[in-house]
Amino acid sequence: MSHSRTCIQCGTAIVGRSDKRYCSDSCRHLANNAVKQQNQHERRILHINAALRKNRSILRQLSPQGKTTIPRQYLELAGFDFRYLTQVYRTQKGNTYHLCYDYGYLLLPEEKVLIVNWQPYMDGPGKG
Ligand SMILES: [Zn+2]
Repeated sequence: MSHSRTCIQCGTAIVGRSDKRYCSDSCRHLANNAVKQQNQHERRILHINAALRKNRSILRQLSPQGKTTIPRQYLELAGFDFRYLTQVYRTQKGNTYHLCYDYGYLLLPEEKVLIVNWQPYMDGPGKG
């Protein structure tokens, strides 16, 4: 008895062994590469999500109530990753706030940072 089977990559009918899932080596490679690439993307997304959450939790811990100025080193020591942020807000004065969800920071002179809470106006139109 024979089952009609098709390649899960391209849909072509499969001939030969009953456990084959692909019509050819090239389809098998294509499918395997797609899975690998997808896994890589997923891992990267998970990594970035985790980094953002960690950043946000560090900002929250260092600034439980509103604005706080601290040495930038405190963030670094806590494992803050400056590469990851969710939003940039530039003020009229040209200051740039880097936000991680509902917390953010502004780099200050002398290796200090000002930690702030996200404000609704930060979602408004840019001021140029
Ligand atoms: Zn195929």
